[in-house]
Amino acid sequence: MNIDYFKNFPDENGYFGEYGGAYLPPQLIEHFKEITHSYLTISKSHRFISELRSIRKHFQGRPTPVYFAERLSNSLGGARIYLKREDLNHTGAHKLNHCMGEALLAKYMGKKKLIAETGAGQHGVALATAAAYFGLECEIHMGEVDIAKEHPNVVRMKLLGANVVAVSEGLRTLKEAVDSAFVAYLKDPITSMYCIGSVVGPHPFPMLVREFQRIVGIEAREQFFEMTGELPDNVVACVGGGSNAIGLFSAFLDDPAEIYGVEPSGRSLDLGENSATMTLGKPGVIHGFKCYLLQDDKGEPAPVYSIASGLDYPGVGPEHSYFKDTGRIKYVTASDYECLEAFYTLSRTEGIIPALESAHAVAYALKLANEKKYQSILINLSGRGDKDIDFVSEKYGFSLEEFKQRYKETDKP
Ligand SMILES: *Cc1c(COP(=O)(O)O)cnc(C)c1O
Repeated sequence: MNIDYFKNFPDENGYFGEYGGAYLPPQLIEHFKEITHSYLTISKSHRFISELRSIRKHFQGRPTPVYFAERLSNSLGGARIYLKREDLNHTGAHKLNHCMGEALLAKYMGKKKLIAETGAGQHGVALATAAAYFGLECEIHMGEVDIAKEHPNVVRMKLLGANVVAVSEGLRTLKEAVDSAFVAYLKDPITSMYCIGSVVGPHPFPMLVREFQRIVGIEAREQFFEMTGELPDNVVACVGGGSNAIGLFSAFLDDPAEIYGVEPSGRSLDLGENSATMTLGKPGVIHGFKCYLLQDDKGEPAPVYSIASGLDYPGVGPEHSYFKDTGRIKYVTASDYECLEAFYTLSRTEGIIPALESAHAVAYALKLANEKKYQSILINLSGRGDKDIDFVSEKYGFSLEEFKQRYKETDKP
């Protein structure tokens, strides 16, 4: 692999090997081509690049640091753990990296309004933040079930000026919200721009979101080398759709580093109890692109579950699907239980409360540390856990011991 990889993947039709593409209703084909063309011209211009750099520095607070987790490492018997601190990015997660890029592109394209769906509300909040920054309108589609569950994020979106559209169809969660957002975009594709929240969806979004997230890996590789004089032996990130993971991984593809994407195995490996798309899924089409997909026996997207709502999606980015087949990236799992253990451990040993999504990456790194006794492990700490503290502490208490006791009583082991 070399620099040409990023020029050749995806190909001009949006494929990474057999994955990706753009399976669109006919009315949208031209509009997605326009987004692709605009991205490939505008985003390479000097003005766009310097404006995005300035935003990253002055508004988002980049570069975020790489941090050596010394107390955690000392408890492990030889392995060294480093964290790329995306939790310190403005709004508390990596998602703003691509939202600012998408919104800046929309501005240069003369769009007035950003449209998206959100599940737990994280993408909605990041996009509403970007819209407020640029003075664009913002419409976020969200299932009624999620609106009831994710109250603080709904409040944040409204404070930021977004119009939150409640979706009452079907199961009233993420899948219906995607359909609803698509319909809204179909009605007005000239003045509005559809903004996807991960490296998923029809071409060009898996490419575009990857390119805006690559800053995470570019910074981390340089920072790690400056701190240690070496490159990391292992690189780990959680995978929902796969944007924080591809952002970090993209800088290490040519290096000897072993790369691990961590999916949630939830409560168990039974269908409906996890969201381990690449461990258990088969290739299929969802939301306009081809990828590994968790399917029921009729080939429909299966119900998914994870304690981290940002990870429960039955599909996954096409580029990850490609790297699974080539073997360059290993896809592994961490369970709810392991995630919670890591959540409490990192909070107590380092003073960093991780998002439950990010805690999956920490959990796998802790397992890896047993096998790779004297190696370094760089983890993408994709977000902070403030959004999760009420849920976790009310259900499981305030310490690892209390959690282990309560988990035995309330959940199946
Ligand atoms: C949304 C989210 C994720 C999962 O999304 P990816 O596209 O897989 O990165 C991971 N971590 C945090 C903190 C999130 O908010």
